[in-house]
Amino acid sequence: MAVSSDEPIRVVETAPGYKDAPKATGVYLMYDEEGTVIYVGKAVNLKLRMQQYFRPGGDGRRSVPFLVEKVRKIEFRITGNEAKAFLLEDELIKKHLPRYNVMGRDDKSYPSLELTVLEPFPRLIPAHRHLKKGSRYFGPFIVGVSADELLRRYRDRFKLRRCTVNQMKKGKPCLYYQIERCCAPCLGSISEEEYAGYVEKITSSLRRYERIQSKVEEE
Ligand code: SF4
Repeated sequence: MAVSSDEPIRVVETAPGYKDAPKATGVYLMYDEEGTVIYVGKAVNLKLRMQQYFRPGGDGRRSVPFLVEKVRKIEFRITGNEAKAFLLEDELIKKHLPRYNVMGRDDKSYPSLELTVLEPFPRLIPAHRHLKKGSRYFGPFIVGVSADELLRRYRDRFKLRRCTVNQMKKGKPCLYYQIERCCAPCLGSISEEEYAGYVEKITSSLRRYERIQSKVEEE
């Protein structure tokens, strides 16, 4: 199902704060005094999200006070729905590589990946340590391509399941189905055999990356 895009995206600019923020769904871009985009995010209700940033104690993340101090302008792009906001946020982060988004990723950095082959319709997820017997682990990816990049690449290309097994069993597709990033095993849209074929392709490709990595490390 494609995401409808008939509504044009409306742009609203404000000074830092939440009073003039629109009560709408969309994406926000925070600029510093040099006009550089330093953070991009999305929200179902942009006004509520801004309140979390600009009210003391509203957002517990460590980087937020530093970010808020540097913001000089906020631009809102009103998409009208969550799926479009998700895609636009992704596009803008890739375009601007905002400093605080990159820092946020570093906070959660992980060197390895796990393919949850003990589950039906396995997921590819970040792994900090190798824990579960029977699961397939790849990495650590330290040199060259990062685990994060490989995760995004394979999860998107093969439209792998993202939710928990319990969620999948409920049979209700989520946003990832709407934006065509999940092949929706929750709806029975793919057979276990076909999906297993993807899992084997990903496994051999990631093993290849591991071998390249070892060679580079040796050299
Ligand atoms: S579309 Fe279905 S299977 Fe895919 S992540 Fe969403 S709920 Fe899970």
